[in-house]
Amino acid sequence: MKLGDEVEVLYTQQQIAGRVRELAAEIERDHRGKELVLVGVLKGAFMFVSDLARQIDLPLSIDFIGLSSYGEESESSGVVKITSDLTRPIEGKHVLIVEDIVDTGLTMRYLLDNLSTRRPSSVKICALLQKPSRLRTRIPIQYLGFTVPDLFVVGYGLDSGEKFRNLPFIGAAKKA
Ligand code: 5GP
Repeated sequence: MKLGDEVEVLYTQQQIAGRVRELAAEIERDHRGKELVLVGVLKGAFMFVSDLARQIDLPLSIDFIGLSSYGEESESSGVVKITSDLTRPIEGKHVLIVEDIVDTGLTMRYLLDNLSTRRPSSVKICALLQKPSRLRTRIPIQYLGFTVPDLFVVGYGLDSGEKFRNLPFIGAAKKA
């Protein structure tokens, strides 16, 4: 049995690649002539950042931030800890947060508030996925890949207990 056999496909590799190209084109158009920093949220966004960055034909820098949420594994508590901080200041820069999925939005709320205190010129969000039914705080997502139903999704960087990150597509784990 292959790794992918355990997962019901929601978005194929081709669909993701197409959407990433569209998002990159929008980001490129909106950031011409600006000092752009992509801030990838570890670990889930690593694949998305790498594909997205390759499609943006602008000079930019890339940094990563590691976050962990206290509380139950499957539910965000909103109490977030920075496990690995940015390597460079973002003061005066146009920051684009690149995140895998916005679920309740509590993690993103914390990150927005935290980065805003570092005096960037602007902070925007690019999220690959959003579960609109679960949102608990209003999060302005300027660039959104896809919406997903209230399912636990894996693949293309997203894991379940560290498994499935390397799947090239996005799907929902099949019930055993
Ligand atoms: P939030 O604070 O928005 O509730 O949760 C955000 C984080 O929870 C995401 O960055 C991601 O790490 C994790 N998360 C939320 N929903 C899912 C999901 O369906 N699949 C996976 N793999 N992670 C999720």
